Amino acid sequence: MRPADIVRERTRIPLVFIPVGPLEWHGPHLPLGTDGLHAHAVAVEVARRVGGVVLPTYFAGTETVLPTDQKPQSPANFGFDNTERIIGMDFPANPVKSLYFEEGVFAVMVREILRLLKADGYRLLVIVNGHGAENHQRTLRRLAAEEAHPPDVQVVYTITFVPTVPAFSAIGHAEKIETSIMMALMPDAVDVRTLPSKDLPLRYRDYGIVDGKTFDGYPTPDFTLRAESDPRDASGELGRGILAAEVDHLVETIQRHVQSMR
Ligand SMILES: [Zn+2]
Repeated sequence: MRPADIVRERTRIPLVFIPVGPLEWHGPHLPLGTDGLHAHAVAVEVARRVGGVVLPTYFAGTETVLPTDQKPQSPANFGFDNTERIIGMDFPANPVKSLYFEEGVFAVMVREILRLLKADGYRLLVIVNGHGAENHQRTLRRLAAEEAHPPDVQVVYTITFVPTVPAFSAIGHAEKIETSIMMALMPDAVDVRTLPSKDLPLRYRDYGIVDGKTFDGYPTPDFTLRAESDPRDASGELGRGILAAEVDHLVETIQRHVQSMR
């Protein structure tokens, strides 16, 4: 956007969206930018409906060492011996590493973005996060709380995914849902032919693809992906439906905050 476009929109509504997501391993079939590309697409659609300026995605995010002494996030959950030192989804077999920022560095970067946007006159700052790691979400929630100055400035933490139904709380990784979303957004960037044929089950540790129930501490007995989460069954149509639900959900959230701004 050029300055005049920004000023016009900021005067109409001082709302800005900040999409974030790390460059992260998402199986052989999805781009490393999946989380940030997803966050940007959702933010743009929400802004079309409620207004505001959307920043380009900050391809940054954090993860940490899987704890060997506590469940459910321990490496044992994914079929490892529980002696491996694994950071996030960077399983030993992956040929490419994720560019996870150290948590403190990530926090400093996001705080600086919020500071600059507040200084530029925005009063409703919305972080649109596409990445599910617990410490990443915790960091963003903390910053949103610390950098808000109600009632003048609101900082809202949001995640692209629509909240899942209890008791299964976690979001899957690179499985059917994320694959479908990316098929809807940029079909040329997805290639499920990089996965083996459908009769072969996908071991978590071989592909770095994990379903939400496994993250919650309920892996399958042979540590392979559940059939219901198989990315080889993904479709653009399913992805479009999911994206529409995500946008609706976020529009509702943001509209509540816009009301309270007036
Ligand atoms: Zn993801």
